[in-house]
Amino acid sequence: MYTLPTLPYAYNALEPYLDAQTMEIHHTKHHKAYVDNLNKALESASISGPDDPIELMQQIQSLPASIQTAVRNNGGGHVNHSFFWETLSLRGPKEPSGKLAEAIQASFQIVEAGQTRLNFKAQFAQAAMSRFGSGWAWLGVKKDHSLCVCSTPNQDNPWMQGLVDLHCTPILGLDVWEHAYYLHYQNRRAEYVEAFWNVVDWSVVEKRYEAALRA
Ligand code: MN
Repeated sequence: MYTLPTLPYAYNALEPYLDAQTMEIHHTKHHKAYVDNLNKALESASISGPDDPIELMQQIQSLPASIQTAVRNNGGGHVNHSFFWETLSLRGPKEPSGKLAEAIQASFQIVEAGQTRLNFKAQFAQAAMSRFGSGWAWLGVKKDHSLCVCSTPNQDNPWMQGLVDLHCTPILGLDVWEHAYYLHYQNRRAEYVEAFWNVVDWSVVEKRYEAALRA
């Protein structure tokens, strides 16, 4: 049985960028529903998934066909939200450093009209903005250790091997479902995406990057 993780901060801890009411509903209603429905689906097939729900994503194609869609939507929802909450903090470094900063430079530096600039946040915003309807934007590590930006619809994620044709290990994800921002930002997804950088704890992303290099 999977359980709703407790957030390591108060619902108002990320204000003014993420408001308390959105955080509370997002965690106690949306995320909880994904966990409950994931457990129901697994119970219906008498399956107990691996302790780490990311492994469940990686094995999704070996699950009975009768529950694959439910696990895709609700297991995806559980994994994606848990992953998202872990990176959020008002404190913590607001820029990447070390090996991750070097990898971002190497992967997203572009030369335009003779000027060198970093195209990372613009590409990430593009992925978040161009996802029609609901989904997620991701920063991921490819097999050659370079970084990429991508997005998935609904609660899909790059861990869903065989279902999602993205060959990377995510290290940062942004929820672009309207439920993640509508109360505060209404239809202004671009403002929400921009505000996200104020609540990313890059030390968490760096740890994930280092783990991906070792994998
Ligand atoms: Mn969400």
